[in-house]
Amino acid sequence: MLRLEDSYRHKGQRRELVKLLRKKGIKSEAVLEAINTLPRHFFFDTALDSHAYEDKAFPIGEGQTISQPYTVAFQTELLQVKPGDKVLEIGTGSGYQGAILHLLGAEVHTIEFQKKLYDRTKKFMTKLGIHLHFYFGDGSQGIPDKAPFDKILVTAGAPIVPKSLLKQLKIGGILVIPVGDRNTQKMLRLTKITSTKIEQEEFENFAFVPLLGAEGWR
Ligand code: SAM
Repeated sequence: MLRLEDSYRHKGQRRELVKLLRKKGIKSEAVLEAINTLPRHFFFDTALDSHAYEDKAFPIGEGQTISQPYTVAFQTELLQVKPGDKVLEIGTGSGYQGAILHLLGAEVHTIEFQKKLYDRTKKFMTKLGIHLHFYFGDGSQGIPDKAPFDKILVTAGAPIVPKSLLKQLKIGGILVIPVGDRNTQKMLRLTKITSTKIEQEEFENFAFVPLLGAEGWR
């Protein structure tokens, strides 16, 4: 069951979470404000509500997780979202990350490979009144029909940087993606300087569920 009520207690817990994220190194005021605004407990079952503002990933069913708030903040900060950006998110999951991108003013296109999660999250986000473009399918190959994108965010661990995703980025566009083995991945930010020149930056290690599909883990 989901409870769509915010309270002073929840607001206080969000402020504490934002303080913690600041302490851990998140600097973008826009990202911190979005996390402070969006009730993360809406994305949790009522029985688990008390865990919503811990800085932890949490199971959301179908063997998948809602990412840790620090991970969401870190990836979103790297993406440098500007209002009006057309953003592709790969791995809709609970919809929380997509909602954060939406609050930052992005036009969000989000794709999920698990049909049950896709159905559930699409329905839930409509109930929340958050308008994202939802797709069901293998996001490791991007969404060629909807390309190009200003930004692409991959929220599952990839074995390689999928070529299709680089192809679907605009010049000047940014791809944020965790790449590594099945247990640990390094966060990468790739900026498309020209159609043939990509600048790559490396950040800290994370542990994501695997990116499946044709350009992911098979
Ligand atoms: N962004 C999500 C959120 O805010 O709750 C968390 C994402 S969860 C860590 C990773 C998600 O990626 C899972 O829901 C998984 O089913 C999905 N996934 C894995 N491989 C995928 C693929 N090839 N295309 C689309 N989604 C994929």
